[in-house]
Amino acid sequence: MKKTKLTGRIVTPNDAEYVQARTNNTLNNPKFPKIIVFCQKVRDVLNALNWVKENNMPFRVRSGRHSYENFSLVNGGLIIDVSEMNKVTVDREEMTAKIEAGANLGKVYNDLWEKGMTIPGGTESSVGLVGLTLGGGIGMLTRLYGLTCDNLLEVEIVIANGHGEAKLIKANKTQNSDLFWACCGGGGGNFGIVTSLKFNVHPISTVSIFSIIWEWKDLEDAFDAWQYWAIRTDDRLTSEIELKSKEANQIIAQGEFVGPVSKLKELIRPLTETGSPIKVMVKQVPYIEAVHFFDEASGNIPAYKKRSGSFLYDPLPKNAILIMKRFLENAPNVRSSIWHQSLGGAVSKLKPNETAFFYRNAKIAQEYLSDWRIPEEEGKSIRWIEELRNALTRYTTGDYVNWPDRFIRDWPTAYYGGNLNRLRAVKREYDPLNLFKFPQSIPPLFKWI
Ligand SMILES: Cc1cc2nc3c(=O)[nH]c(=O)nc-3n(C[C@H](O)[C@H](O)[C@H](O)COP(=O)(O)OP(=O)(O)OC[C@H]3O[C@@H](n4cnc5c(N)ncnc54)[C@H](O)[C@@H]3O)c2cc1C
Repeated sequence: MKKTKLTGRIVTPNDAEYVQARTNNTLNNPKFPKIIVFCQKVRDVLNALNWVKENNMPFRVRSGRHSYENFSLVNGGLIIDVSEMNKVTVDREEMTAKIEAGANLGKVYNDLWEKGMTIPGGTESSVGLVGLTLGGGIGMLTRLYGLTCDNLLEVEIVIANGHGEAKLIKANKTQNSDLFWACCGGGGGNFGIVTSLKFNVHPISTVSIFSIIWEWKDLEDAFDAWQYWAIRTDDRLTSEIELKSKEANQIIAQGEFVGPVSKLKELIRPLTETGSPIKVMVKQVPYIEAVHFFDEASGNIPAYKKRSGSFLYDPLPKNAILIMKRFLENAPNVRSSIWHQSLGGAVSKLKPNETAFFYRNAKIAQEYLSDWRIPEEEGKSIRWIEELRNALTRYTTGDYVNWPDRFIRDWPTAYYGGNLNRLRAVKREYDPLNLFKFPQSIPPLFKWI
């Protein structure tokens, strides 16, 4: 039997760089892989996948390291890391960009900005483009240009190929179209190792941004005003609102508008006229400054954290707002919060089954966040998140696969809704031996014949 050799930059526990190489953005629930291969080219990816097949070793695929549950790591196994393959190539005539799967959002935004272009991605610069895109991808241009995956044209992906040798294939709307459909919201790590992504890009120059801060006493009014306003306002405006812990005493709404500042001032009036904002900022900036504005530096630093989330199809009634308020009054620490981003607009122009991202008709994405500094706070922080999620369940639907939570019991339905069975059929087709496996990977559909 052929013995494949691992190629690329290889790090093992004996190497000085091992700790850095194995550390993801979430520090709790750490994992200790046996080997980490930093691939430099597609051949390294093929070799790594053939090697784990020949050696029957568990493996995971990794890019930006931001999986909330560290699904891109595994104890005692091999990590196929693509982060050092990160070239961005633009075709100005076609208005497309081919981006290697290791590029993070910061690199993508900067490289495209130099050409006066962008794609709608997420906010934190260290998040991997590939993980974000495979699960959907929401950010500050979502209502105008859709999810990140809605702008995807093609992926190049190394598949396990059953008992044969791993191979590189293309998936787009005409070739391997079912796999392409699954790559638009089916979540990372399920079908193969994406090595590059091709996107439609959009011209961009200046945008207008706003930020409004209220104190705790305005929580109910500010949130209520925002939730009705954010989903109905101009589609060129995407916004978020974060309800911080009572101790932090801040409710912050922010957004990005692809249009003039004078119009944005007008659009946000329903918010500025609500309660008593302690700070209002509205300005026009070069697009890249807006990118930096929404890129919270703290999110890029590895930390102890627990996050979970869900979708809202309807504005929350008063009872639900009071539940959020009660939890924020009793937050495990000052950094706990509940965050929301408006959807609708271009997201809802596609039907739930047009891509694997099912929650097309959701109006708002809602996320629960808690970070802690000392291990003793872990238990109560995780409990707070889970109790909050459960307390809001009757008002919410599903969860975003890019915000995985290992405590969600029926996670396949929560992440994929009515698209689950088709995803399972794609899994059977492209990974029939279920080699791409992690605690919440898509199970292949059982073959009855
Ligand atoms: C601080 C922070 C900010 C975030 N902000 C946003 C945001 O603004 N918008 C948003 O939509 N989401 C956001 N997320 C969620 C983010 O989209 C997901 O965590 C995403 O999966 C991260 O991808 P990654 O490549 O960085 O992570 P990784 O941990 O490297 O990978 C995530 C998943 O994708 C798989 N994967 C990685 N590389 C590949 C590949 N080459 N081929 C196939 N599968 C692969 C992994 O196996 C894993 O299952 C944020 C997360 C964090 C921690």
